[in-house]
Amino acid sequence: MRKMLCLLLALLCPLLCLAEKTPDWDYPIDPLTLRNAEGYLTLANRDHLLDASYAPNDLVTVTAKHVSGRFQLRKEAHDALLLMFTAAKEDGCTLYVKSAYRSYQTQNTMYYNRLERNNGRDDGWVSYPGASDHQTGLGLDVLNYAWTQKDGMNAEFGNAKEAQWMAAHCHEYGFVIRYQQDKQEVTGINYEPWHLRYVGLACADYMYRNNLSLEEFTEEWQGYIASYNAAGGDYEALCKSLTTLPDPMATGEYDDSGDAEISFFQLP
Ligand SMILES: [Zn+2]
Repeated sequence: MRKMLCLLLALLCPLLCLAEKTPDWDYPIDPLTLRNAEGYLTLANRDHLLDASYAPNDLVTVTAKHVSGRFQLRKEAHDALLLMFTAAKEDGCTLYVKSAYRSYQTQNTMYYNRLERNNGRDDGWVSYPGASDHQTGLGLDVLNYAWTQKDGMNAEFGNAKEAQWMAAHCHEYGFVIRYQQDKQEVTGINYEPWHLRYVGLACADYMYRNNLSLEEFTEEWQGYIASYNAAGGDYEALCKSLTTLPDPMATGEYDDSGDAEISFFQLP
């Protein structure tokens, strides 16, 4: 009997080893988030230009406190912004939106106006058309009252208590400071303590804790997927398996209107 058991184990072992060939997903962000189906991780910079026709289809008018004018953001980013502004206010920081979504055409005009004023030199203050985070509908500029009264913005805003509050808390609402002081070489953009970018809660938290710019984070997760596939995994298949729900089955329970309740969970 014992011999047979040993034989059985010996036969099963290679099969078990084969089954283990698919590597575990051990990246701290879940695979579906990285698919970027919603575009919350979309990178716009000089190396990753957005198309002139790229425009989000879920823009909403900003109702959060703002300077005069009409601003737009993608809905999920705006919902998160409202929560953040309320929390900031509770901590004694009143925040104002100064700028939000910008179309390719607007950015184009801004860029060439800046060049003209600057004797044809790109000083890193206005992004190249297609390279602006504002075109994603997820990037925005947020100031305190004093700075809304000034003509321009500069790195000094980083000393304001409102800027420090945002640096410490914006990730709790799904935002990151897109252009950090210590990442100017990586982003190619000057330090902008007022420019927030919505990436979603999980990614904002991860980027904050690991001090990653969007450029670095993108390179890291794309590299992880490449190594996952190289190790025998199939990222696309993994995502598919996570999006495929089992067939719905009737639970046998009925709600008040008499419709059968449908459950995606197996009954015990
Ligand atoms: Zn900005």
